[in-house]
Amino acid sequence: MRVSVLGSGSSGNAVAIQAENGTLLIDAGFGLRSLENRSKKVGVSLSSVKAILLTHEHGDHAAGVPALVRKLGCPVYGSSGTLRALARRNGNIRMMEIGTEEPIVVCDLIVNACHTNHDALEPLALTIQDPTTGLKLGLAYDVGCPSPHLTELLGGCHCLIIEANHDESMLRYGPYPATVRQRIAGPNGHLSNRAAAGMLRNLVHEDLGTVVLAHLSRMCNRPDLARDEVRMALDASGFRGNLLVARQSEPLQPFAVRPVREQLSFEMHS
Ligand SMILES: [Zn+2]
Ligand SMILES: [Zn+2]
Repeated sequence: MRVSVLGSGSSGNAVAIQAENGTLLIDAGFGLRSLENRSKKVGVSLSSVKAILLTHEHGDHAAGVPALVRKLGCPVYGSSGTLRALARRNGNIRMMEIGTEEPIVVCDLIVNACHTNHDALEPLALTIQDPTTGLKLGLAYDVGCPSPHLTELLGGCHCLIIEANHDESMLRYGPYPATVRQRIAGPNGHLSNRAAAGMLRNLVHEDLGTVVLAHLSRMCNRPDLARDEVRMALDASGFRGNLLVARQSEPLQPFAVRPVREQLSFEMHS
């Protein structure tokens, strides 16, 4: 699996996962032209997208879905709540449900999900596993607060894309009104750098190759703050993989999902 984080933050999110038999797009929170530009930059052809998986219906995750589906005719997968919300706005989209009890197979990849505490109708965190190699990617943003279900779902992943939304003091002293600050920091809002670090501490294992911090707030976070806070927790847990920070304005350099020991031997030989 080759992963391209096309962009992440409160103005839009999309992650392209290229596999043997096509590309899965997790979220489509950008307009069509932006998605096309971002995909082109990382060598992904939008015409290879076989399905869109949605974490939830908020605009920064789903605003680009109608135009993309009109162009590609591909199905949209999500929880029943997410699909209900989408159907209200867009009648004739081909929709397939992701449950939390049984995995589903999309594009020959195994998709598992669990609910998160975010303030959408029925938001999901997801894992995508290649059954041939066993390699697994986990994605959790707009998380609200960590839960035992989430930690269980994300256990054993070789790559994790995790929300590190805000620095707690930047949020406290930042420009948002109190109600917005309370929503963001509350149990149904977004994970702080500190909360992301705490969650990751429980998810490090010897084969975790890549951690990507995502959905950083433009007003209440900085990449260096998020990286430093999480780096400390990861170092203390023995993490030896790559730590990346996704950006809103630009896609990340694509990378392969692989265990840390393969990354190390790859670096030694290259
Ligand atoms: Zn969001
Ligand atoms: Zn959201």
